[in-house]
Amino acid sequence: TAPTGDRAKRVLLAKPRGYCAGVDRAVETVERALELYGAPIYVRKQIVHNRHVVETLERRGAIFVEENAEVPEGATVIFSAHGVAPEVYEQAKQRNLRAIDATCPLVTKVHQEARRYAKDDYDILLIGHEGHEEVVGTSGEAPEHVTLVDGPDSVDDVTVRDESKVVWLSQTTLSVDETLETVERLRTKFPGLQSPPSDDICYATQNRQQVVKQIAADCDVLLVVGSRNSSNSVRLREVALEAGSRSAYLVDFAAEIDDAWFDGATTVGLTSGASVPEELVQQVLAHLAERGFTDVDEVTTVEERLTFALPREIKKDLAARN
Ligand code: SF4
Repeated sequence: TAPTGDRAKRVLLAKPRGYCAGVDRAVETVERALELYGAPIYVRKQIVHNRHVVETLERRGAIFVEENAEVPEGATVIFSAHGVAPEVYEQAKQRNLRAIDATCPLVTKVHQEARRYAKDDYDILLIGHEGHEEVVGTSGEAPEHVTLVDGPDSVDDVTVRDESKVVWLSQTTLSVDETLETVERLRTKFPGLQSPPSDDICYATQNRQQVVKQIAADCDVLLVVGSRNSSNSVRLREVALEAGSRSAYLVDFAAEIDDAWFDGATTVGLTSGASVPEELVQQVLAHLAERGFTDVDEVTTVEERLTFALPREIKKDLAARN
């Protein structure tokens, strides 16, 4: 047998990883707006939660702001993929802004569900992370009807007006398993709890977690490329640890990797969040190859083919130009 030091060092590369259809559309919306209308283009909040994407768009003339009030009257503003409350559209109208909505259609679907259940006077238990932009936007559809449930441990504090009219909805980027646990605990408390008509946790979140679960137990280290404020990326690291990876780290860039993480490691798992460009993963692969992890095995659980059309304002102006 070969001495331990010579054991083949390999990378298990997760697929699907990286950009989802909603992120792809949101980033392209900003790029096309810069092309069509010229810089600067204002973007309310980070278009997607990724440092590299935001910095790249900034260099090209995008200006990221926290609120509409920071956008000059009459300018173009793009709303991020995470969605906004109806009052944000209203503010934009009042400031005479040209608003372009890059909300992911799968987030819009949850907004529609919230509106529909609120109209029927349900109590809506929204499972999600307090303060996350998506949760702020979805709650804003029906503030009087929505109660935030931030994980299984907060179920004890939840109260409702009428136990026969309760539904749960969720943020799109949660841990699938933790959400199931939260729902179970809610259902024990409120047996009449209804479920959303279809999954709120989106296909991209589910698929990225599924492949991580498949490879985690074989990994000494699992690297997730993604930013700290990216909900789905943070979940991938947690899922990796729960599914048996010996260690797991979240990094924005290859330069953040610490060589000490690989002491004694022979198998490194690698994935990336839904807002992460593939070039960052390729840089991590090159970094790993320099450290002897040259054998790359891509593990694919499912092929993703979904794409979303650009927002209609952009489509219209692109068509008029051509
Ligand atoms: Fe849409 Fe899911 Fe991507 Fe969020 S992670 S932008 S909900 S597809």
